Amino acid sequence: PYKGMPGEEILQKRKTFLGPSLFYYYQKPLNIVEGKMQYLYDENGKRYLDAFAGIVTVSCGHCHPDVVNAVVEQTKLLQHTTTIYLHHAIVEFAEALASKMPGNLKVVYFVNSGTEANELAMMMARLYTGNLSMIALRNAYHGGSSATIGLTALHTWKYPIPQGEIHHVMNPDPYRGTFGSDAVRYAKEVQDHINYGSPGNVAGFIAETFQGVGGAVELAPGYLKLVFDIVRKAGGVCIADEVQSGFGRTGSHYWGFETQGVIPDIVTMAKGIGNGLPLGAVVTTPEIAQVMSQKIQFNTFGGNPVCSAGGHAVLKVLDNEKRQTHCADVGSHLIERLKILQQKHEIIGDVRGRGLMLGVEFVTDRKEKTPAKAEAAILFEKLKDLGVLVGKGGIHGNVFRIKPPMCFTKEDADFLVDALDYAMAGM
Ligand code: PMP
Repeated sequence: PYKGMPGEEILQKRKTFLGPSLFYYYQKPLNIVEGKMQYLYDENGKRYLDAFAGIVTVSCGHCHPDVVNAVVEQTKLLQHTTTIYLHHAIVEFAEALASKMPGNLKVVYFVNSGTEANELAMMMARLYTGNLSMIALRNAYHGGSSATIGLTALHTWKYPIPQGEIHHVMNPDPYRGTFGSDAVRYAKEVQDHINYGSPGNVAGFIAETFQGVGGAVELAPGYLKLVFDIVRKAGGVCIADEVQSGFGRTGSHYWGFETQGVIPDIVTMAKGIGNGLPLGAVVTTPEIAQVMSQKIQFNTFGGNPVCSAGGHAVLKVLDNEKRQTHCADVGSHLIERLKILQQKHEIIGDVRGRGLMLGVEFVTDRKEKTPAKAEAAILFEKLKDLGVLVGKGGIHGNVFRIKPPMCFTKEDADFLVDALDYAMAGM
């Protein structure tokens, strides 16, 4: 049994010693003290089925033994020196990661978070092209630093500081978007934006293929292909933010962008790459990387032996345990069951996504698509009481994000759907 500090005391200390911008889930936030694969345990020993994976970060499973072992063994031997000396772990990890990339995406930069990865990607795009304007999608989340906040396009996260030379185009959201799934019309809006809102040349375009924080929105089919063409003609490079959608989570492909049949010029990663370790990466082509050689690009902890050993172990686990196929299998079962649930409950306006990257959107009126904010909040609490943790997303908080550790089983999926059904029946 847990003998540590009780949740109430932690909350009080958080309020005193940590910044007031922190937020938490649930009226009475959970004090999670242990994790094992797809399960979490609170201070009272209550078990929860984790369908949010620490915000889509725990890819292999909480405390996966292979990853823990790699981290512990490396920690005992050598924790840190920086890249001023040689170490095998960083090159082994970089080589393994590069082998997962299509095209000429072969040069890896290691950083410590998704925000850092996107900062670096944006800098590369600007240096390489000599242009300043960046194009991002509305409803995007790309980070919370003073530069990436400009890329992020949800007012809830944007502090009122200069946002940089960044243009936000319509997000091609098949459910809520003005043009539905019509990728051609959304792409035309990008061209209009370049023509009328930028100097005509742009540094780059960045997008999540599956908008995560924005509420599990899969971009309209064919969109990236059209937009990549437009952006490249305007002198820009194309950046895929794979912080949430990478590493096989979507089931059909290893990378989210592959679902749209494109190859980006720069790919950014974090979260699932480390199964919980502070780790991020930028992968690009030798040609683009070359532009960075005019100065030193240094990151003290980037590619440190411990995170490299852990990250390499993650890649091996995902391969050995065939997690991509598993995500496809379990995901298709889960989405099928959720769609049946949608037929039963009016309040479910949309069920979407692929693999273990799903969203359930609640509305009070299916025609008007009025966000069912209050109802979603009640269901969210009820699900937790029933022992199931999901994520919340979308600007109205009316989307449940189901993105569990990739070891999630069909039985877990059934339990989640049954719990949701039960919670909704009692509304
Ligand atoms: N990109 C995406 C798509 C994200 O979801 C996030 C985090 N939610 C980030 C970037 C930023 O990552 P980090 O919090 O590790 O800086």
